[in-house]
Amino acid sequence: MAKVLVIEDEENLANNLADKLRAEGYTVAMAGDGETGLDKIRGDQHPDLIVLDIMLPKLDGLSICRMVRHDPATAHIPIIMLTARGTEVDKIIGLESGADDYLVKPFGLGEFLARVRALMRRGMGRPRMEQDEMESEDLRLNLTGRRVFKGQDEIKLSNKEFDLLTELMRNRNAVLSRDLILTKVWGYDYFVDKRTVDVHIRWLREKIEDDPSNPKRIVTVRGVGYRFEG
Ligand code: CA
Repeated sequence: MAKVLVIEDEENLANNLADKLRAEGYTVAMAGDGETGLDKIRGDQHPDLIVLDIMLPKLDGLSICRMVRHDPATAHIPIIMLTARGTEVDKIIGLESGADDYLVKPFGLGEFLARVRALMRRGMGRPRMEQDEMESEDLRLNLTGRRVFKGQDEIKLSNKEFDLLTELMRNRNAVLSRDLILTKVWGYDYFVDKRTVDVHIRWLREKIEDDPSNPKRIVTVRGVGYRFEG
């Protein structure tokens, strides 16, 4: 059963979210401050999804988010951020935080559940090993073997190209910002120029697109990043 960790210091809201999640069949863990939240994230059983308030006692949500992304053991866990102020949205949308989605308070519980379901469906909450193959039209990617096929032909990719394609396909039809791609593919330990992403996208297109100058699979979303269609 999928486990959701709710880190929120407003008790009423936290309880409402927990009730709604439980009614949907999720297992729920809760934390009322940032430090407790981080402990629970790093505990023996990682949550499959984290609902994370920004303003929290002891440790704020944006810091937690960065720490989660920084740690390879937790980097894959999807995060929905909650914010009380529209002014904070810029920070989240810039995805410098590494959040996957956000909601501005007050929000409807129906909307909340829809976002949770969407992230769970994307499979981002599953440990990387569980999903072994991903397909899109004639493109097939084998995760454990780290091999990619286009039709019958195997395509040779560098390690980074493979990781990049995996990240794009795992989040297919969603826009990924350069920052998010850098975080997930290169990790926070690397101080890499954002243009590195563009260069690797270009190399990848040359290998997987029918017409690399007119890409249909990896499309550019102007001013934001890239989206894998399929
Ligand atoms: Ca709060």
